[in-house]
Amino acid sequence: MQAIYRPKPGSPAEEYAPWACNLYKGCSHGCVYCYAPAATWQNTPEKRAAFHGRPQPREGVLEALERDACKLAQKGERGPVLLCFTCDPYQPLEQDHRLTRTALRILRAHGLRPKILTKAGPAARRDLGLLLTAGGSFGVSLTSLSEQARSSWEPGADAGGLARVDNLRAAMGFKVATWASFEPVITPQWTVNAIREAAAYCNLIAVGKLNHMAPPKPIHWPSFRRQVAALLESLGFARVDKSQMQAGPFLGCRHYYIKQDLERVR
Ligand code: SF4
Repeated sequence: MQAIYRPKPGSPAEEYAPWACNLYKGCSHGCVYCYAPAATWQNTPEKRAAFHGRPQPREGVLEALERDACKLAQKGERGPVLLCFTCDPYQPLEQDHRLTRTALRILRAHGLRPKILTKAGPAARRDLGLLLTAGGSFGVSLTSLSEQARSSWEPGADAGGLARVDNLRAAMGFKVATWASFEPVITPQWTVNAIREAAAYCNLIAVGKLNHMAPPKPIHWPSFRRQVAALLESLGFARVDKSQMQAGPFLGCRHYYIKQDLERVR
C-alpha cells in the first residue's frame, strides 16, 4: 500500500499540496456535494451510503506512512503533505483511532510538513501543539456560516462555519500557519459572508466553484470570480499562483488563490 501519494497533475487535489495522504476510508460528514466516493471509484448509491455511513481506518496506513515518509525524507522532500483529500482527518472516528495524531508524529519525525484540512469542531484543535512543532499548517473548509446550510449540505459535520472559524483563530493563537478552502461555492453570498468572517485568521485563502452538481440557483461564475478577487484584495490579500498555493500557507502572509476550475470558467 502507498500511503503518501502525489495527486494527479492538474487535479483539484494537486492544487492543494504536492503530496497527500488519506487516513480513513470514508467520511461521516456526509456532504451532499462530496467528490470523494467518485474519486475513489465508489460512486454507486450503495457505495456512497457506505462511504458516509460506515467510515473505517485504512488498514495498515500508518505502517505504509512510516515507510513512505522515510523514503521521501531520504530524497530530501519536505512536503507539505495534505491530510486529507478523501476524508476528514478529525471526523469522530479519530477520537478512537488517533490515526491523524500518529500520522503527524510520523511526518514530524521525517521532516515532512503536514497540511491539515478539516470541517471538524473543537476536536480538530487537539493537535495544534504537535502541528506547530512539525512546521505544519491548519486549514478548514468553509461553505457557509449558517447552521441551516450546514445541516442541509454537510449533515454529518459536527461543526458549522462559525465553529470552524473559531478553530482558525485558535490555530493562529498557537502561531500555526492557517488557511481556508472556500470550495465549493454553493451561493456567492454564503461564501462572501464566510470570507469576511474568517479572513482575519487566514494566511491563505483558496476559492473554487461547485462542480459535480448544479448550484441551488444559477451562478454567473466570471462575475463571482471578479467579486471575490476584489473582496480579497480589499482585505489585504495578494494573489498567488499554484506553486505558492501548494507550498503555503506561511505565517505573516495574506495570500489568496483562485482554483483552476473557477479561473477557467467563461
Ligand atoms: S468532509 Fe470532504 S470527504 Fe468528508 S464528506 Fe465532506 S466533502 Fe466528502
